[in-house]
Amino acid sequence: MTRKRFIAYLAAAGATGGGLFTLKSMLQEWPEMQNTDRMPVIFIGHGTPMSAIQPNEWTRSWGELGKRLPKPSAILSISAHWLTRGGSLVTAAERPPMNYDMYGFPPELYQVTYPAPGHVGLATEIANTLGKQIPVEPDTKWGYDHATWVVLKYMFPEADIPVIQFSIDYSRPPAFHLELGKHLQFLRSKGVLIFGSGNVVHNLRMRPGMNNDQPFDWAREFDTTIWSWIQEGNHPAVADFQKIGEAAALSHPTYDHFLPLLYCLGSKMNGDQITSFNDEFQWPAVSMRSFVIA
Ligand code: ZN
Repeated sequence: MTRKRFIAYLAAAGATGGGLFTLKSMLQEWPEMQNTDRMPVIFIGHGTPMSAIQPNEWTRSWGELGKRLPKPSAILSISAHWLTRGGSLVTAAERPPMNYDMYGFPPELYQVTYPAPGHVGLATEIANTLGKQIPVEPDTKWGYDHATWVVLKYMFPEADIPVIQFSIDYSRPPAFHLELGKHLQFLRSKGVLIFGSGNVVHNLRMRPGMNNDQPFDWAREFDTTIWSWIQEGNHPAVADFQKIGEAAALSHPTYDHFLPLLYCLGSKMNGDQITSFNDEFQWPAVSMRSFVIA
C-alpha cells in the first residue's frame, strides 16, 4: 500500500475526524502496506509482562499490527523500563541478551526468549546523531527488557529484525524527550520502526479489583485529555502533562511510562496522521491506549 493510499484510508475511516476507532475495525479494512518513503511510528501500551505467556486481546492486536506494518529494516525501542541519568545508552551488542527486569512472576516468564539480532552500525549512527543533543554511550549489558520483548514477541514473532534499545535520561524534563524525538525522524526514511513502549496511564498501586475493575474517573480523564491534545497536535501540552494536576499525579506517580510517548510524538512529521487503538484499560489505572503514526 502506498503512503498516499494509506493516508486516504485513514481519512475515510474517520481517523482524522477524531472519532474513536478500534484496532479491530481498522485492521479489517487495512490492506498490507508496502515499504514506503517513511516508516510508521508506533506507541504501544504494554501493560503487564504476564501477556508474554498469557495471550489476550492486547497481544492479538499486536500480532495483527505486525502483519500490516511494512517490514522494518530495524526497530528502535524506547522502553519505559530503561532509565539512565546524565545521558543515554544505546544497545550495541551483536546479540543483545534477554533482560528479565521484573520480579515475583511465574518461572515460565523468565524462560521467554526473543533472539533478535542487534545492529551495531545503526546504534553507532544513532549515538553520533543524538550525541549532539545528549551524551550517548554504547552498551552491551542491558539487552532487551520486557517492555520490548513482551510486545515484539507477538508483533514480529520471527525475531529476524534487528532491534536496538535507547535508554531514557530520567534527569531531563519531559519536553527534552519530545525534542529528542525530532532528531529520530531521519530513521523513518531508512526503514527503521520507532517503537515507544509505555502506558498513557500507569499507576500500579491501583490493583485489579479496585474500583470494581473499572477505570478510575481521573484515569479516564487523563487518558482522554492526552489523546485530545495528541489529535490537536498540541505536543507541548502533552509534554507539560504535569500541569493537569491531580489526575496527572495519580496517573503517573513516576512518569517513566509516559516518556516513550513523547519520543513518538517528536518523530511525527508533516502530513502524518495518528490513529489510536486499544483505547481501553487493563487495570483500573493502566491504560492500554496505543497509536500508529503514519
Ligand atoms: Zn511497564
